Amino acid sequence: MAKINTVLGPMETADLGTTLTHEHLLVGPAGSYRDFPELFVPQVFDMVVEGLKAAKAGGIDTIVDATTADLGRDVEFLAEASQASGVNVLACTGWWLDFPRFFEGISPDQLADVFTREIEVGISGTDIKAGVLKSASDMEGVTPNDAVVLRAIARAYHRTKVPIMLHSYAPGQVARQQLAILEEEGVPMNRIKIDHPLSRSDEEYLTWLLDQGCFLSMDSFPGMGVSPHARAQTMKNLMDAGYADQLCPSHDIVQARIKVADPMISDEERLKANPHGYLYIHQEIFPRLKEMGATDEELGRLCVAGPRGFFEGV
Ligand SMILES: [Zn+2]
Repeated sequence: MAKINTVLGPMETADLGTTLTHEHLLVGPAGSYRDFPELFVPQVFDMVVEGLKAAKAGGIDTIVDATTADLGRDVEFLAEASQASGVNVLACTGWWLDFPRFFEGISPDQLADVFTREIEVGISGTDIKAGVLKSASDMEGVTPNDAVVLRAIARAYHRTKVPIMLHSYAPGQVARQQLAILEEEGVPMNRIKIDHPLSRSDEEYLTWLLDQGCFLSMDSFPGMGVSPHARAQTMKNLMDAGYADQLCPSHDIVQARIKVADPMISDEERLKANPHGYLYIHQEIFPRLKEMGATDEELGRLCVAGPRGFFEGV
């Protein structure tokens, strides 16, 4: 057992319960929720709370919010939403892909100090602490800027023992490069979770990651490119191969975002693709896994054992 930071204070890992390890309550450019409130719908907070209450009623106990500062993280929003809904929410520190021009030349140790303070003292002048570290690399592989963040989160890990989630680009097997840097920095592989691995059903690569000891975020549901059924099949194959307790199913849903005039995907299309919100996996994917032969006991462990192992470091 270990203690972790939720946005409402410390919690035992034994109390994580059914946990989704990669979701977003609110996303926008850094600071936008406070600075440009007119870009969000006025009822944005109630909308998010309603989604969380539905999740809670459907058995979800805890959500890891994967929103870094450059994705518009607002920890007071998260804390109020957690309080109003009864869902435990963990905030993250680290950085996503929007590396600012004024960070050019920044050192890993400078950022490690920031990330450590967000875990040990608090975020944005509050005493709300981060519960997880995050770094991101995408199609172009680990860029020099990504490498600075990776080394920074590794050093913050050594000071805090808070685990690491990595946004990664599965088709390019980019986690191999990310892990090489974290290994150089001495981070144990069982404190790392690779996110978005199902954007390609490449079981050889996924098995390699699992064999390193990493956790995998079975996320992006319903997702694009690879069908939900194919994603479920990959999950089942990995369960059958003995990796169930390293899997962390999640959706990567952005519940509230800036209301742009000309969206790429309309709200109606989003709702049609996923009418269940945070319960999509339980309502659509679990029955498929069951049809494929998964037992109730296996399904009962699926969003529990993996997340707990990730946070406890087992
Ligand atoms: Zn995400």
